[in-house]
Amino acid sequence: MTNAGYNVIRCPACSTCHGRKGSALSCPHCGQNLKENGILVMSVTSAEDLRREVTLANTPPELRDMLRSRILRKEPLSDFNQETPSRIIGRWVQESCEDDGSITVHSIQQTLNRNHSDLDANEVIEQAEVQGMLLRLDVGRWMLLE
Ligand SMILES: [Zn+2]
Repeated sequence: MTNAGYNVIRCPACSTCHGRKGSALSCPHCGQNLKENGILVMSVTSAEDLRREVTLANTPPELRDMLRSRILRKEPLSDFNQETPSRIIGRWVQESCEDDGSITVHSIQQTLNRNHSDLDANEVIEQAEVQGMLLRLDVGRWMLLE
């Protein structure tokens, strides 16, 4: 690897990408020597582009397009979670079912915590209600419909 630009380099050992000006030395994630076997994913011309492309390269493919469009619109990445795909929300809601089949703000919150999500439990419930997944039984208590 002799490219002298800003490079996105993938480590063949741990598949994680990192950014580097010039050629690769070693993987910052697992320490693998990348001089010989680092994979050049792409080269860009500025440090800003490099940061963006490294973030994208390390994002699961199904989320990449959404993330890219948000970055290009220059929205802060902290808002990224606001657009958690509805199928993930659906899975979390299902995981939040208590023994009697009911769902509460508390059980949703526990699932969110487990998944390190900073979504608001009330918003998740609201979204699941709109999608017809949840039926409100009582104040603060819902039933899973599917
Ligand atoms: Zn590595």
